[in-house]
Amino acid sequence: MTLATWVDEHTVDVTVINGREGKAIKRLRNKSIGSIQKKLSRTKNGSKDHRRLMAAKKKIQAKTKYRLQDFDHQVARKAANHIIAHNSGRLVYGDIRGIEQKTKEHRRVGSHQRQQLSKWSRGRQERYVNKNTGFKGEYLDEARSTKTCPACGARNRPTGRDYRCKNPSCGFVCHRDALGAINILQKAIHGTYVPIGQDVKICVRYLRAVKRWTKDQRLAHRKVQRRKARALSSAQNRASSREISTSKQRQAQSLTSPLGLDQLVVMA
Ligand SMILES: [Zn+2]
Repeated sequence: MTLATWVDEHTVDVTVINGREGKAIKRLRNKSIGSIQKKLSRTKNGSKDHRRLMAAKKKIQAKTKYRLQDFDHQVARKAANHIIAHNSGRLVYGDIRGIEQKTKEHRRVGSHQRQQLSKWSRGRQERYVNKNTGFKGEYLDEARSTKTCPACGARNRPTGRDYRCKNPSCGFVCHRDALGAINILQKAIHGTYVPIGQDVKICVRYLRAVKRWTKDQRLAHRKVQRRKARALSSAQNRASSREISTSKQRQAQSLTSPLGLDQLVVMA
């Protein structure tokens, strides 16, 4: 979800809320359910294995449902923070369905563009934003909002993450999502994609929806923790075997010497 708001005549504030986690949650679910489905096809209906797999499948579905709900809440919270911080007068959503709404000139407008999540998830995020801010978001047709250059009005086909205007006298470059939100913002104010002008400062802030570890981060952490645990246990083993082999006299020495158990733990 991306939001754009005019701060003053020369500045547009943009907040880009990354929706990657939402996609990751869905991907993980599809993968796990796929593998369960594969096993299910090899079991007999009503058998013990079949029941066990069905329960596992249900568990994954329920877990994903809550994780996605939580994700949408977090996106909406961050979007609402942007809207509240800018004291926006209106809230306008870019809409692919093409519902045109009457627009009134208003300087302070909060607008945001939908992202490539599922329609259902976007609708829910918008509901949460409305609830958080007390606004009833309007909808605006967002056709061509990702193609039109907000500096000169030229139309370009965006490639990759950044939008680059191919107009040689313009050369405007900006994050693709931010561009869409800026265009919706202009349309909400003026009714069409009126260029913002060349000298306007665009301040983009990137936020992650969920401050949760990715799967890779989790696996990397687990690896480190396991290595630590192994080192610790082997250190303890070394320490205990040394204790057994040494005489009483030596044991007394080791208690006072720096080579105690504590130091071995620190090394690990
Ligand atoms: Zn341009």
